[in-house]
Amino acid sequence: LAEAGSFCDIVREHAQERGDTPAFTYGEETITFAELDENSNRVANALAAFGVKKGERVAFLGKNHPLYFEALLGAAKIGAVMTPVNWRLAAPEVAYILDNCCARVVFVGEGFADVLARVRGQAPDVEQVIGIDAPDHAGTDYRIWRDGFPARPPATRVGLEDDALQLYTSGTTGRPKGAVMTHGSILSSRDAVGQGEMRSWQEPVEGDVTLLAMPCFHISGTGTGIGTMVAGSNSIVLPEYDPTKALELIENYNISKIFLVPAAIQILLNHPRVKEVDFSRLKYVTYGASPIPLELMREAMEVLGCGFVQMYGMTETSGTIVALDPEHHVPEGSPRMRSVGTPLPGVEVKIIDEEGNTLPASTVGEIATRSSKNMSRYWNNPEATAETIDEDGWLRTGDAGYLDEDGYLYIHDRVKDMIISGGENVYPAEVENALYAHPKVADVAVIGIPSEKWGEEVKACVVVKAGEELTESELIQHAREHIAGYKCPKSVDFIEALPRNPSGKILRRELRAPYWEGKDRAVN
Ligand code: ATP
Ligand code: MG
Repeated sequence: LAEAGSFCDIVREHAQERGDTPAFTYGEETITFAELDENSNRVANALAAFGVKKGERVAFLGKNHPLYFEALLGAAKIGAVMTPVNWRLAAPEVAYILDNCCARVVFVGEGFADVLARVRGQAPDVEQVIGIDAPDHAGTDYRIWRDGFPARPPATRVGLEDDALQLYTSGTTGRPKGAVMTHGSILSSRDAVGQGEMRSWQEPVEGDVTLLAMPCFHISGTGTGIGTMVAGSNSIVLPEYDPTKALELIENYNISKIFLVPAAIQILLNHPRVKEVDFSRLKYVTYGASPIPLELMREAMEVLGCGFVQMYGMTETSGTIVALDPEHHVPEGSPRMRSVGTPLPGVEVKIIDEEGNTLPASTVGEIATRSSKNMSRYWNNPEATAETIDEDGWLRTGDAGYLDEDGYLYIHDRVKDMIISGGENVYPAEVENALYAHPKVADVAVIGIPSEKWGEEVKACVVVKAGEELTESELIQHAREHIAGYKCPKSVDFIEALPRNPSGKILRRELRAPYWEGKDRAVN
């Protein structure tokens, strides 16, 4: 395996060595590694026959589907680059991504042909539409198209330096940016094994079954599916996250691993059936993508009773670069539980100031990272690439945090979300954590709003639990008992629901906007 020149080679080896092993399961349908390899050859030959060249993009607009991975692999075999598009976006945003990535071929899933038809005028590069299990599509049927081409491997040579995948960032802080990952970035976790000890939960275990419940337009979903393809294990694919189905699958299949964002964990724990489900075969819940309130973590540990691994990473780092191992998840509380853990093998992390100087341990600054997991660049955006990656390969994450003396990383927040009030730095996540601990609070976001006196002042936007009543002064009083005075909210807005993006991240910029109209925020 060490000689692999692309991630496609790994899948081919699995096909040869364990061809009958299921790679993807979707409802009643199973795709084995042998089928995945053979059918992706057909896709590669079909794309090549259409004239798709190495380095060109193809796109996928649809819910999670195993054939998305087959198409991704087929494209990769000729050096073409799959770009999944967030199907929850509004039509103009879909148009923006399709136009930005310049895809000529678009795979469309069930229910999305209409959206695609509406935006085609704004994405002039699109020439061919291929419907994956999409009876309503206005193009060619995927299976018929694919099966019209030979199963022999295409002749194109693809190597570690070649682009393999293009994922757009979640758009939490602005317009989504296309992060380009190479075959090398995809294989780096596996190849870094020699560069440090692999964590126990990283080791591929024969018979592992993963539930793929997060969306493939996000690194959490695509990363999970590619991870199981590389490991040679089975992913059970959910078209979209649904707690009822997730619980059913956990009970009926031998699901051993699942990645969930904190918002999805919360939905699972609120499910009326959660306490009746047998979780004994579930080995690990891995979670990340946004901060998790400590209270929620404790509840999850109590109810699910499995191992937990926190992950920190971003689209630009092909997913996880830092992880907190199960042993640091202690219900009684452990200082490490507030940490996102230590860098994975082959990953470097440092904390820098605005000029890029390295800061000492326990000092808060911007988190920077270097490893072969880093994206090669932002697509068609050299300015953003230059602002993000320096000549030595260090990537600025835009997140604020610090490393302790033992090398554990603590995330405070995004640099852009930090509130500067009376000269003091306030990190919204810490305040949110304190407010979330109030028994009547269902959900909370903290933002900075303009203040004559303080520059910025802390405001909490709170969703109260159904049937409960909570006043501003009661909540501020609660905060005073838990955090320093300058961090406490000066005011509270009670709202129906928080604006979140599909990865469950709070869109603080939307909450901030009405307060900053006509005013300039130092960072925005
Ligand atoms: P955009 O870059 O378009 O604004 P985004 O940063 O939300 O969107 P992603 O790449 O999906 O897009 O998310 C990466 C970010 O998610 C990280 O920079 C960090 O802010 C946050 N994040 C990831 N994991 C964790 C974690 N374990 N705890 C706290 N925050 C996390
Ligand atoms: Mg980002």
